[in-house]
Amino acid sequence: MTAISHINDSPQIQAQSQQDSIQENWVRWFCSLTGNDWYCVIPREFIEKESNLIGLHTQIKGYNKALNEILDLRDYDDASSDVDSQSLKRNTVSLFNLLHARFITTPIGLEMMSLKFLQKAFGVCPRVMCDSQALLPIGQSSQCNKGYVLLYCPKCEDLYIPPSLIHQTIDGAAFGPSFPHLFLFEYPLLVPPISKPRTHNLPALEMLPSTSSCNSIRPDRFPSKIYGFSLHCGMHHHLIRWIEDREMAKKHRIAEYNDAILTLQARKANDPG
Ligand SMILES: [Zn+2]
Repeated sequence: MTAISHINDSPQIQAQSQQDSIQENWVRWFCSLTGNDWYCVIPREFIEKESNLIGLHTQIKGYNKALNEILDLRDYDDASSDVDSQSLKRNTVSLFNLLHARFITTPIGLEMMSLKFLQKAFGVCPRVMCDSQALLPIGQSSQCNKGYVLLYCPKCEDLYIPPSLIHQTIDGAAFGPSFPHLFLFEYPLLVPPISKPRTHNLPALEMLPSTSSCNSIRPDRFPSKIYGFSLHCGMHHHLIRWIEDREMAKKHRIAEYNDAILTLQARKANDPG
């Protein structure tokens, strides 16, 4: 029996409702911990939806227990050892990280992340030419425990290590390697113009060496990828230009229409018969 099927057990729901009254929701509790302010509070409905959990049971040890923990369906009478308890905590956080990476690519998740981005919750780029550009979190891998979270600047397209030690311990799988590019595709108007080449480093954040598919343009630029597929260099900016051109063409058509209306009105005024 899967953990999801447990949710529909009415005795468990009754027991859970009693637990909820005396305990804090796990997701809210976890996101409120110091240093976890970069996470979004995932709605319970998202976690309960089976299609959002596909494939996760193969990536997390003790998947059912970890899911029950996130959904506050833990059996509190279960006397487990300290070792089991620590292992369960790690598995639960890993499962939450994978769920989080999926959630922030949904419309609601993207909206939550856009608010954080606009509030510069992930910090700003240390480069002078980037003019305090807001950063976005990015993972080095979509798998857990493969690397910590980094920060991506959409302006100079480089990666940085978070300045705060407490944020440096967040697993990059919580955001995944495609998130910034998916986000900027969804919000093309938030794509800033590309900054000029770097003139000097500032000590606030450490820049990472990176390989690039854009060697002819910027040897130190991080390659943009969505689900492993490379994007054309400056694609976000092409998209912005396309939107601007489209808006310009629209304004031009409206102006032509207004001119035509005025011409017709003038003709009518001159030729009342
Ligand atoms: Zn920058």
